[in-house]
Amino acid sequence: MSAAVDLSGLGLTPEEEANVLLSYEMLRPKLEDGERRAVEGSKGAVYELHRKGATLSCSCPAWRNQTLPVQLRTCKHLKAVLGERDEDARVREAARAAGRTLPASPYRRSRR
Ligand SMILES: [Zn+2]
Repeated sequence: MSAAVDLSGLGLTPEEEANVLLSYEMLRPKLEDGERRAVEGSKGAVYELHRKGATLSCSCPAWRNQTLPVQLRTCKHLKAVLGERDEDARVREAARAAGRTLPASPYRRSRR
């Protein structure tokens, strides 16, 4: 996972560098409006998370294949970055606002 900071030239040991990067990641907002973030999925695939206003998206097949309105979709990558609890709460809230009942599994395709 690469960070948007360049620490080369500071003379840090790899361990110090890792610690700086970790603190940096923890201080960052989870996903800012308009931000795109690359995440590594299983099997080394790289997906892109994107926030646009209240809508969060991911370029993975699990997200794209959902037939729910975009603001009600989520996937394991969004949950990994945003925190599973926060992300579940966001989707539940969006569903309530839209007057929809979520399917038992957000990953299951609905056939309507
Ligand atoms: Zn995803």
